[in-house]
Amino acid sequence: MSHKQDAFYASVIRNFDKAAALTEYPSGLLEQIKACNAVYQMKFPVKLGDNYEVIEAYRVQHSHHRLPTKGGIRFSHLVNQEEVMALASLMTFKCAIVDVPFGGAKGGVKVSPRKYNAEQLEKITRRYTVELVRKNFIGPGIDVPAPDYGTGPREMAWILDTYQQMKNGELDSAGCVTGKPVHQNGIRGRTEATGRGVYYGLRELVNNKHAMKELGLDIGMAGKTMVIQGLGNVGSYTGLISQEEGDAKVIAISEIEGTILDKKGLDIKKLIAYRKEHGSILGFPGSKTLENRDDWVGIECDILVPAALESQIHKDNAADVKTKIVAEAANGPVTADAEEILVKKGVLVMADMYLNAGGVTVSYFEWLKNLSHIRFGRMSKRFDQNANNNLVDMVLRLTGKTLSQKERDLLTKGADEVDLVRSGLEETMVNSFNQIYEIYASRDKVKDFRSAAFISALDKVASDYMTLGVFP
Ligand code: NAD
Repeated sequence: MSHKQDAFYASVIRNFDKAAALTEYPSGLLEQIKACNAVYQMKFPVKLGDNYEVIEAYRVQHSHHRLPTKGGIRFSHLVNQEEVMALASLMTFKCAIVDVPFGGAKGGVKVSPRKYNAEQLEKITRRYTVELVRKNFIGPGIDVPAPDYGTGPREMAWILDTYQQMKNGELDSAGCVTGKPVHQNGIRGRTEATGRGVYYGLRELVNNKHAMKELGLDIGMAGKTMVIQGLGNVGSYTGLISQEEGDAKVIAISEIEGTILDKKGLDIKKLIAYRKEHGSILGFPGSKTLENRDDWVGIECDILVPAALESQIHKDNAADVKTKIVAEAANGPVTADAEEILVKKGVLVMADMYLNAGGVTVSYFEWLKNLSHIRFGRMSKRFDQNANNNLVDMVLRLTGKTLSQKERDLLTKGADEVDLVRSGLEETMVNSFNQIYEIYASRDKVKDFRSAAFISALDKVASDYMTLGVFP
């Protein structure tokens, strides 16, 4: 285990304690909220080619104050127990911040997905699921996994299929995992949800007059320069949506193979297609490659977006940061030591537990869809469309005006599933931002956005415990 990973759980605990000290809750309650409720470590054999490999894996349920618990599954050779505990803890606070009624959990399988073909990954995923079923660590009312680093809809489909084989006839079984392909009980808008949520969160911040005055930046997203580490699920949609809907300028991208820069702005859509074709971002037309991949941290920009892994901005490189906003699209990318340095420099760190909560928010919508066994919008879309058409017809008749078909379609459209998902996500990110910013701006003792986010979460989790009568 590297020094950096070792520090991740310690960083989460340190941040928790710092925020907890600003509240009046009894220490026993705070200790209970902080503790991981259940840690399941497993080792299982999988035959891969001619050999058996023993795979190490985890599922951590951080908090049972609400059930089911929820959190992604990570496939990475760096997975270890403390990392999964840190990620599970963040999930509890994340769910509370965005009012998703779940406890936090996380899973990790210590494998490098690049090392295996699809068939081998399927074997590993299915075997991991069997272990979870056997120990009662998965189920629509128990614990509901989702994608994380190194996993996606494909792995979720394997998990669902394995679960259903073992739980034949369970009515709500489709809700045992989220982030599934749309045609296999998934929901439209889930794949892009985390990146879209990052965009909505950033948009709220840059449109906030008080915050922009404090940071010395102009109001609005248009023209803001952005540097992103990681062009995976979260990084690519953050870049794409910020560019397409906010008119932001993404000037650099860092990936495993290196970092590219184009001060005029990179076209993210074309870059994603380029990487798919060439297997690398290097050589993308108009860009230059930095000598040292990790120098993305020091590129001058308005918004720096770590969207790869934890502990990327640490005490040894935090002084190099030349931005006003660090947007934690990844989980735990800024260590507690680094944050102290950044806050002293006047940098605002938008905390992961708020900023990347779009994924779990839309996962919650998917779970609701699975339990209700109906696609959102199915009952109301046509009704709304007809009612809107009647209204438009009446206005046109009374005014004697006409509309083009395009204008009419815009006014009369009934909401589809994806429209409702986006609207629910936007509503959630805006509300939660306001709750956190209110704490940040109005309490003198709260010096950073992360502590404000923690306090917002703590208020909700503590109130749950008190309602349960556990802590009167
Ligand atoms: P992903 O596997 O789709 O993408 C991660 C990308 O980061 C990969 O393309 C990888 O090559 C790149 N990367 C890894 N190490 C790097 C390095 N040193 N320098 C540059 N690039 C590097 O994973 P993801 O789902 O996008 O998750 C990224 C982060 O976001 C993780 O911290 C994860 O926990 C967090 N997150 C993900 C979701 C989700 O819905 N997927 C939700 C919330 C938070």
